[in-house]
Amino acid sequence: MKKTPQTTTLAIARLLIISFVLFIPIISIAQNADNSKVVDAIVKEATQNSQLKRLAHELIDGVGPRLVGSPKMTQASDWAIAQYTNWGLTARREQYGEWRGWDRGVSHIDMISPWTKSLEGTQLSFSPATKKPVKAETIILADVKDSLAFQEWLPNVKGKFVLVSMPQPTGRPDYNWTEFGTKESFDKMKKDRTAQTEAWRKRISKTGYNSRKLAEALEKAGAAGIVGSNWSSGFGVNKIFDATTKKIPTVDIALEDYGLLFRLTESGKQPLISVFTQSKELGSVPTFNTVAEIKGTEKPNEYVMLSAHFDSWDGATGATDNGTGTLVMMEAMRILKAVYPNPKRTILVGHWGSEEQGLNGSRAFVEDHPEIVANLQALFNQDNGTGRIVNLGGAGYVKAKDYLTRWLAAVPKQYKDSIKTSFPGSPAGGGSDNASFVAAGAPAFSLGSLNWSYFNYTWHTNRDTYDKIIFDDIQNNAIVTAIMVYMACEDPERSSNEKADLPPNARGEKWPAPVKSKRKGGFDN
Ligand SMILES: [Zn+2]
Repeated sequence: MKKTPQTTTLAIARLLIISFVLFIPIISIAQNADNSKVVDAIVKEATQNSQLKRLAHELIDGVGPRLVGSPKMTQASDWAIAQYTNWGLTARREQYGEWRGWDRGVSHIDMISPWTKSLEGTQLSFSPATKKPVKAETIILADVKDSLAFQEWLPNVKGKFVLVSMPQPTGRPDYNWTEFGTKESFDKMKKDRTAQTEAWRKRISKTGYNSRKLAEALEKAGAAGIVGSNWSSGFGVNKIFDATTKKIPTVDIALEDYGLLFRLTESGKQPLISVFTQSKELGSVPTFNTVAEIKGTEKPNEYVMLSAHFDSWDGATGATDNGTGTLVMMEAMRILKAVYPNPKRTILVGHWGSEEQGLNGSRAFVEDHPEIVANLQALFNQDNGTGRIVNLGGAGYVKAKDYLTRWLAAVPKQYKDSIKTSFPGSPAGGGSDNASFVAAGAPAFSLGSLNWSYFNYTWHTNRDTYDKIIFDDIQNNAIVTAIMVYMACEDPERSSNEKADLPPNARGEKWPAPVKSKRKGGFDN
C-alpha cells in the first residue's frame, strides 16, 4: 500500500503517543542495562584481575609503617603516585603543613641480670636514640602520698629505668577466661583488676603529673629511660604510640616480659636491663595528602570521593589501620579507571596524612578546597579494619536514604548481603576522616567494617601486620566501593546535604563543628 500524506501523519502521531508513553521507561531500562554492564565489568575486573595482594605486599611489607613525619610516609606516597601513574591516572602530593621528622631505627631490649633474656619490646615513635646500649637497673614508680612526697622520691630514679605501667594480673584475654575459667575465678580476677587499675591511676595522679608530663619529670630527674607496657587486652598485643621524652629512650615492653621485670624488681632481685634504640631526627619535614583523580566528562566540577587515611602508627606495619582501607580505595580507583574511564562527575581519591594525630590531612583538605567540598556528590571513607562492609549510615542527612539506597541497589546481592543501613543515621563527630567533611556539611559516609577483633588485636598494635588482612573481604569492599562511586557519578540528581533534625550530640551541638587542621606539630607534645 502506498502511503498517503494522511496515513503518514497518522503513523507519526501514533508513534509520538507511543513514545510519549514509553519514553521514560525506555530510558530507565536502557540506563539499567548500561549500569549492569558496568557493574558486571567492575566485578569481573575485581575478581579476575585483583591487584590487592601485590599492592598489599608492596605497601605493607615493602614500605612498612607510615608514621607522620617519617621518610616512609614520603616513600609510600611516591609508591602510590607511581601506581596511579601506571594505571593512567593523574596523582599528586598536596603539602599542607610540616611535622617533626623522625626515622625509626633498631630497638634492642635485653635483661642481663639476674638471668639473660631478650625482651619483646620496642621504642615508642619519636623516642630519642641512645648512643650505645644503656645498661641500668629498674625501679618501680613509687606509690607516694602526694606530689610533695613524689618530689622527695624523684632523685631515686637517677640512672635507672623507671617502670611506669601497672603489671597486668593476667595476660589472658577475657574471652579465654570466659571459655575456661569458673565464674567465681573470672569474677574475682576482674574485681582485683579493676581495683588495681584504679589504684594505679591514683598512683599516677598523686605524683601531680599526668602520664605524659610524668615522663618529662622522670627525665629531668636523671632517669636512664622510661619503660611502660600498654596492653591491648589480647594475647601478645600492646598498643604502641609516641614518646614524650626529649633525651632518654621510652620503650614499651610486651605484657609477659614487663610482668617478669616488674615482679623481679618488686622482689628485690634488682634486674639489670640493656636498652639500645636508634633513630634519626630529621628536623621539620613536609606533611601532605596524596590525591589521585579521574576527570569528569559531563560535570567535571562535581566530585565523588574515595577516602582512607594513609598514615599509621609504627609499632607494626599498619596493615589494617589503615593499610586495608588504602588498598580498597586504590583497587577501586584502578578498577574504575579500567572499566569506567569517562565518569560523568570527577572521581577523586584522598589518601590522608596525619589522621592519627587528629584527622589533620583531611581537615586541611576541607579547608583548602572549599570548591570541592561544596560540590561533593558523595565521599566514601573506610577506616576500621580488614572486614567486609557491614554498616552504612546516612550520616545525619535526611535524604541520604533515597540516594544511598538507589546506588546500593546496583550492587549484586552477594556483595551487599552483609550491609546494614541506618537512616538518617548520625553525623560522625570524629573517629575518621569522613568526619572532617561532615563537619563542613558535605555528604560523607563511612563504610563500616566487620570487626575481626580490630580494637584489641590490630588497631594501633604491634601485631597490625600483613597476615591479618582478609583478602576476600577487602576484595568485596573494593567492589562495593567502585559500584557506589560509579552510581554516584552517574546519578542524574545531585545528592542532598539537607540535615536531619537530630537531638544534640554529647557536646551539645546540633551538628559537629569543624575543627582546624594542625599544620605544624610533633615538637611540642
Ligand atoms: Zn585508622
